[in-house]
Amino acid sequence: MQKSIILKTLIQGGKVSLAVIDSTSAVQEAATRHGFSAVAAAAFGRTFTAVAYLCSWLKGENSSLAVTVNGGGPGGKICIAGDSGLRMRGFVENPSVGLPPRADGKLDVGGFVGKDGTLTVVSDEGTGLPFTGTSQLVSGEIAEDFSAYFLTSEQRPTAIALGVKVKDGTILGAGGLFLQPLPGAGEEAVSFCEEEIGKFGRLSSLIAEKGAKGVLRMLTDGPYDAREVLFRCHCSKKRAESAILSLGKRDAYALLREQGRICVHCHYCNTDHTFTKEDIERLFGEET
Ligand SMILES: [Zn+2]
Repeated sequence: MQKSIILKTLIQGGKVSLAVIDSTSAVQEAATRHGFSAVAAAAFGRTFTAVAYLCSWLKGENSSLAVTVNGGGPGGKICIAGDSGLRMRGFVENPSVGLPPRADGKLDVGGFVGKDGTLTVVSDEGTGLPFTGTSQLVSGEIAEDFSAYFLTSEQRPTAIALGVKVKDGTILGAGGLFLQPLPGAGEEAVSFCEEEIGKFGRLSSLIAEKGAKGVLRMLTDGPYDAREVLFRCHCSKKRAESAILSLGKRDAYALLREQGRICVHCHYCNTDHTFTKEDIERLFGEET
């Protein structure tokens, strides 16, 4: 499968920033790890793609951000984190919950996510002083919710199309299109973005057919920047050791006796880091 990528360029005489993301392979990896229902895959994939776009604006090697969409729907929270290297990870609270499709046959992402709640972005530009931005959810359909976030929290009108096409657990196409007028670009640029985005109602099919470059070429013939987007968690058994160490020797041995081993679960990539008796002895020394 093709790598997931983000393509970025300026159009409209430099007044509008255009980004196209093909996140198909990254969303597939998340779906395989988490065992998503179709609607969970769509909700996750749309959110993942929008967060990858946010991460593409991060400056500095150590900057990162985390997004929580909490709409009160049956799917629970969606949490996605990423860094300036576009290494992304995340999960859906209730990944196996399914819903019947909407009357128009589309997956009911709004029903799964809910709309009584907030979208929260916590970004850390590597300074250790995180910035938190929050906006109210509009529909739980994700694209509109991120548009509202950009407008209210960053004062940047942004036209967004997001799509995920799923069949029998396979992600056939996932991606996003983002049109953002540069500061001071004027009303004309804003209307241009709103009109253009209306033409991309079937984005997941377009991504599946043409890829990110083909979609970008529908809007410009010019040069563009390309970067890879990865589903990659930064957890490891080494990092999980600190959770074990924080238990303290007595509690760690008590837990070991109770369960025969100790598991540290990473929600972001659905991985268990397992510690055996030998591991615990290595960390704390033998039980006394
Ligand atoms: Zn992990």
